[in-house]
Amino acid sequence: MATPGPTYVPQEILLSGAQELIHHRSPHMEEVMKEVNERLPVLFGTTQEVFIMLSSGTGAMEAAVANCFQEKDKVLVVSNGYFGERFADIARVYGIETVEIVSPWGTSVDMHDIEKAYYENLDVKGILVVYSETSTGVTNNVEEIGKFFRDKNVLVVVDAISGLLSHDFQMDAWGVDVALAASHKGFMMPPGLAFAAISKKAWLRLEHINPKTYYFSFKRFKKFYPMSPSSPGVSLIFALRTSIEMLMREGIESCYQRHQMIAEATQKGLEALGFELFVADSKRRSNTVTTAIAPPGLDTSRLIKILSSQYGMTITGGQGEFKGKMLRVGHIGSVDSLDLFTVFGAIELALTDMGLAFTKGSSAAAIQPIMQRGASGVEIIST
Ligand SMILES: *Cc1c(COP(=O)(O)O)cnc(C)c1O
Repeated sequence: MATPGPTYVPQEILLSGAQELIHHRSPHMEEVMKEVNERLPVLFGTTQEVFIMLSSGTGAMEAAVANCFQEKDKVLVVSNGYFGERFADIARVYGIETVEIVSPWGTSVDMHDIEKAYYENLDVKGILVVYSETSTGVTNNVEEIGKFFRDKNVLVVVDAISGLLSHDFQMDAWGVDVALAASHKGFMMPPGLAFAAISKKAWLRLEHINPKTYYFSFKRFKKFYPMSPSSPGVSLIFALRTSIEMLMREGIESCYQRHQMIAEATQKGLEALGFELFVADSKRRSNTVTTAIAPPGLDTSRLIKILSSQYGMTITGGQGEFKGKMLRVGHIGSVDSLDLFTVFGAIELALTDMGLAFTKGSSAAAIQPIMQRGASGVEIIST
């Protein structure tokens, strides 16, 4: 499976979720929750508490919006892909006025556009931004955005759902106020858990807001912390404990360097097969998913179908206007160098089945040097 979430779940994690259940208010559970809660903040680059919610990633997005803002508040929303659009949709459901900063798909938001929107709307209460836009394969410069708003009365709410653990992310140092993540992306887990870390600055606001949500109320989460306000997903928490264990074993730095190397190799492999990378700015390409436009005459929907039916390989395609034209190769979570040879092997076999002309073995030849030297400026990691 080479999709940007859900991702491959290592057996070690799967099996730890298959343990006998314990009562969620028992001392044993308290021990597990304490351990998990102590270690989670490190992954977010924060010293703040990280709340664990029983939902998919969208639930965390909704929780952040519902807790940080009130009806008639105005927020900026960075819109350069599906998930940015989703953030705006959620805000509107809560009666929040949105000022969208739109940039073309495949490009990162321009800081000048954000500054301009802010100075034209000095009454905004927050900015909603996606770190790694899974629909387009681009990353937004959250560090720059966070630092700009740090001393302003604007909360920086970041969907780091697919960006966390595949890229450097420093919530406190960058001035991020709410950071969101989910289990089925960098955590290499099944879907079901979502995470929210909240800054001190955000708490000053949150304390004065009566959120229009009960289940997702951050105040309620804080009251029960480190335990869960409602029944937690006990099996998933067990799996999470193992996931954190594995991430710590590898080292977070090594983890995102590995993602960077795999991303670079994927880019080179696709280019070797005649694809054109969708994100022109090499510094803003996602380490989570690589997006590329197929050469003329290659229907990616058909390619994806053959990959799945003939080779058992799941790869996603473009959405919206890019359906049939784009390939989105996911490489988040438990992916190593050798996995990529399988992915490209399958792609080459499928291209051959489709009767398309290309140099056989060219993708493997293109990715091999990167695997050997590691990502640019990065020590090679042997696991
Ligand atoms: C996966 C993902 C989400 C959440 O999607 P769910 O299906 O609700 O888990 C949100 N934002 C981004 C950028 C994602 O990649």
